[in-house]
Amino acid sequence: MGAYEMPTLFEKIIAGDLPATIVYRYDRVVAFSDIRPVAPTHILIVPHKVIPTTDDIADEDESLIGHMVIVARDLARQQGIAKSGYRLIINCNPDSGQEVYHLHVHLIGGRPLGPLVQRT
Ligand code: 5GP
Repeated sequence: MGAYEMPTLFEKIIAGDLPATIVYRYDRVVAFSDIRPVAPTHILIVPHKVIPTTDDIADEDESLIGHMVIVARDLARQQGIAKSGYRLIINCNPDSGQEVYHLHVHLIGGRPLGPLVQRT
């Protein structure tokens, strides 16, 4: 964990020390709007627990990870994009372009999203 910035940007948002548009606060996760949205809906679902990357997820985190997906499902319904469709993205480490080393799920939708990964 030493190589990662502490507290993370997202810890500061969760603590209220950095402003963000909070969409919902749950017991174990917080959801807020991405500051640079790539689609009409772009929400980040972030656990209170600091897990830097998917590679750092422990077996004991299984229910938390499942909970994040359930929250994404509910937020997609609230945003009215459940039927039109959306994408959930979790980036991990440099090749993915991960920018903030505090695990988060991107909920992105509200327009056709195009191919999953740009072809090289
Ligand atoms: P990653 O690349 O790590 O998967 O995604 C990080 C996301 O966090 C990016 O989409 C970026 O726009 C968003 N982001 C970075 N800084 C801030 C911030 O200060 N506030 C909010 N709300 N989002 C941020």
